[in-house]
Amino acid sequence: MQKFKMYIDGEFVEAASGKYFDSYYPFTGKVWSQVAEGGPEDVDRAVKAAHRAFTSGDWAELTASQRGMLVHRLGDLIARDAKKLAEMEVQDNGKLIAEMQGQVNYVPQWYYYFGGLADKIEGSVIPLDKKGYFNFTRHEPIGVVAAITAWNSPLLLLAWKLAPALAAGCTVVIKPSEFTSASTLEFVKLVEEAGFPKGVVNVVTGFGKDVGAPLTSHPLVRKVAFTGSDATGRAINEVAAKTFKRVTLELGGKSPNIVFDDANLEDAVNGAVSGIFAATGQTCIAGSRLLLQESIHDEFMDRLLALAKTAKMGNPMSMETQVGPVTTRPQYDKILSYIDIAKTEGANLALGGGPATRPECGDGWFVEPTVFTGVTNDMRIAQEEVFGPVLSVIKFKDEDEASRIANDIRFGLGSGVWTSDIGRAIRMSEKIQAGTVWVNTYRAVSYMSPFGGYKDSGIGRESGIEAIYQYLQTKSVWINTGAKTGNPFVLK
Ligand code: NAD
Repeated sequence: MQKFKMYIDGEFVEAASGKYFDSYYPFTGKVWSQVAEGGPEDVDRAVKAAHRAFTSGDWAELTASQRGMLVHRLGDLIARDAKKLAEMEVQDNGKLIAEMQGQVNYVPQWYYYFGGLADKIEGSVIPLDKKGYFNFTRHEPIGVVAAITAWNSPLLLLAWKLAPALAAGCTVVIKPSEFTSASTLEFVKLVEEAGFPKGVVNVVTGFGKDVGAPLTSHPLVRKVAFTGSDATGRAINEVAAKTFKRVTLELGGKSPNIVFDDANLEDAVNGAVSGIFAATGQTCIAGSRLLLQESIHDEFMDRLLALAKTAKMGNPMSMETQVGPVTTRPQYDKILSYIDIAKTEGANLALGGGPATRPECGDGWFVEPTVFTGVTNDMRIAQEEVFGPVLSVIKFKDEDEASRIANDIRFGLGSGVWTSDIGRAIRMSEKIQAGTVWVNTYRAVSYMSPFGGYKDSGIGRESGIEAIYQYLQTKSVWINTGAKTGNPFVLK
């Protein structure tokens, strides 16, 4: 049985408790490895190491260009080991190897982009309204960052935080999900190989209450970058506020995927299926509310159900598989309970509706791709995030009703609009309250494009140039070039 230690101050170490916890392979439901079970003492050691590395020593002495080169080198090493890292992610989260390979192959781009950005962060000279002073700004790293990630895309979600944090000059303590810690612990070996000084990147593994909570409340942590559920995000925000930490929160969603009657229906059907059944629906941007214009509803549903019925389930390591298992046993139970809720609420079950018992699914945690029609937007199945392969289909009459339904929810992460009318596409992109609007596509992301949520879907943006400023703070420097000191009792 493979055992993973945590990584603190440049060394792989056991937890202070000496304990390990089990990690499961979702395809078999069996334990495949064990991970060190950290606690507050380990968190304190890691944060102090990160604080030391931030305030003194080699990292603090590097120029921005040197820092950027290290970050770039880390990207090269990930590219070299992408296959191994992707396979490890599949062991932990059961997502398809086809999806994880694509994802991990793309991860280096975040390190290249932010590595390149490291030495292009410029302050300004301010053209002051006062004579006799010279005023300029500097952007300085904020300090020790806590990076807390979810289980669905461990290394991708980490790259969104770590690449800009390191490029900015911060130091980091990572807390991966207790369900998927292995790939982060394998990845951190590459941080060491790239030549980052000790203490700059640390990983403390364990559970939310034992590791996440003490990390978020630690007085030496200046910023929390989090991806996970809105419930945990809310708890983190409250704790972080007590010590005035900055936060970036990437939370959940219940994204509307809206199809108008002038859309290319074949593309839109593909987009709707990819929006909810890709990654077994376990993505924050899942298009879990499908809004269909009344006039195309029946034809669209015939096509969608025909396509969804062909989805191949089974071994996530096979390139042929299209829908894999659910990552965790609690998540599997949660999805099934939402299917029951929808049935009780009176939604019409059009496909699936329970555990998958196909022989190719073995003992894994599989749920049949499930579709409910006749959903109204006030039902729980329309308002609450399921995070699984469960689609709610809602009818609408016109643009106004579509945008009203789309926005009548506390979330605002992703959204899709399918139409051949450019004017309508632009109007809808203005009306929808969400951090991302995809027009005639779905589930596209890039290291260059800002990503984040409106409303309860989060605070701040990851990716794109603005992401690096979430790890920097601005200092204003005033120099007297000849102004009289004047009356000391009044503001200058
Ligand atoms: P989760 O909130 O249960 O856990 C996320 C992380 O927070 C884990 O590492 C967990 O151990 C830690 N944690 C738990 N309690 C904590 C506490 N009190 N203090 C600090 N840390 C704590 O979420 P999950 O189940 O791992 O992930 C699924 C959720 O993540 C979904 O809601 C999904 O929409 C969201 N998500 C969002 C994005 C995005 O970018 N917006 C991406 C992926 C997933």
